[in-house]
Amino acid sequence: MDHLDKLEAQSVYILREAYREFKNICMLWSIGKDSTVLLWLARKAFFGHVPIPLVHIDTHYKIPEMIEYRDELALKWKLTMIYGENKQAIQEKNTFPEGKVDRITCCQSLKSEALKKTLSGEWDRYIMDLNTGKYIPDTNCERYTGVIVGVRADEEGSRSKERTFSPRDKENDWDVGDQPPEFWNQYKTDFAPGTHIRIHPLLDWTELNIWEYIDRENIPITSLYFDQGDGKRYRSLGCYPCTTPVESTSKNISEIIHELKSGKFAHIAERSGRAQDKDDGGGLETLRKGGYM
Ligand code: SF4
Repeated sequence: MDHLDKLEAQSVYILREAYREFKNICMLWSIGKDSTVLLWLARKAFFGHVPIPLVHIDTHYKIPEMIEYRDELALKWKLTMIYGENKQAIQEKNTFPEGKVDRITCCQSLKSEALKKTLSGEWDRYIMDLNTGKYIPDTNCERYTGVIVGVRADEEGSRSKERTFSPRDKENDWDVGDQPPEFWNQYKTDFAPGTHIRIHPLLDWTELNIWEYIDRENIPITSLYFDQGDGKRYRSLGCYPCTTPVESTSKNISEIIHELKSGKFAHIAERSGRAQDKDDGGGLETLRKGGYM
């Protein structure tokens, strides 16, 4: 087995273990490269079928191509595709782009709060009707007790402190200083009733591993990651008012891999184009302790 085979096998094992151990789990799909690799791994783990609902938190500020790509793949792969949102904040325009709140408050509201209330079933969820491709209200409002998330330890500082099976309290809050050890990849999956679990099958993957795997497996990926002719491309995807592309002429996956191997970005954070990281003190720990993905 080469390194990618080992990473794949470990992630598939974690996904199967999560499905076996926890009732009513879902998987977050942000539409980015990491969570799309996670989705691909889930298809491998369960032989082409994904028995876990995919949940997307729609801030209504995502780059439009991301939503088109989400819905295309959801239809093609027959996914149980669900989205949630902070309807009130969006209707009242209580957002950073509307100039009403700062970025941290906006992220807490449109992402963390929306995620918390979508997972708990307190707020409306919308599910794709695979016959029409349209979203309809989801009549199942049962609480998701665990969520699988495609974060990687090398992506930014707070994520490097994560465990593969990470307990959160009922409010989804994260106590970074009180987490179970996972020596030698021995995972603790036995938690007190009511504990909300986050599961991270991609913690050991690097940005380069992700692109090499996308290349090897021929995983469909949004073209936003490639230079469209203006010498820029997105290295990390998010809300358009807060995400800027990087200088790069990489037009395909091979060129991205070559660029990463060249060391061009060795001292530039992967999420350097994400403005909310800077507003959270250069990392995301404050936001992530409060439930941010
Ligand atoms: S990334 Fe920007 S637009 Fe999106 S939720 Fe955060 S502050 Fe609001």
